Amino acid sequence: MAVSEILAQKGKQVITASEQATIQEVANLLAQHKIGAIVVQDDKDDVCGIVSERDLVKEIASNQSQALKQPVSSCMTHKVVSCDPDDTVDRLMEKMTAGRFRHLPVLDKGKLVGIISIGDVVKRKIEQAEREAEEMKRYIAG
Ligand code: AMP
Repeated sequence: MAVSEILAQKGKQVITASEQATIQEVANLLAQHKIGAIVVQDDKDDVCGIVSERDLVKEIASNQSQALKQPVSSCMTHKVVSCDPDDTVDRLMEKMTAGRFRHLPVLDKGKLVGIISIGDVVKRKIEQAEREAEEMKRYIAG
């Protein structure tokens, strides 16, 4: 299955923040939307970072309540690994495993068009395994 098909099922909404947003504001967004990562965009709407709940926990553990007033750019990952609409689920798994992260923004010709989480990937892998098991059962029975 391709990323574009996953996005057609789950939607293309991406929760984003500006580089100037505070860590408190980003924590509010994570809690409000029940998600684990926020994509950070610059003034031209280009992706310039990603921040996950792990980054916030690390920052707050180091700087306690002072951390909440800092801009998100102080703790985000600047070098973002992204995927394309044409990438397959297996390719996403490779990227997430190699980078040890659970979120991949989807870029189409440089424009942010979606985000895939490890939950989306696992769901498709389970569905695929169930389909294959069903086909195997039918083949054996028939
Ligand atoms: P996660 O597993 O997504 O919570 O992220 C773990 C760490 O990887 C955090 O430091 C994130 O900022 C970073 N991270 C998450 N997604 C990406 C990505 N697509 N590209 C680069 N770094 C990422």
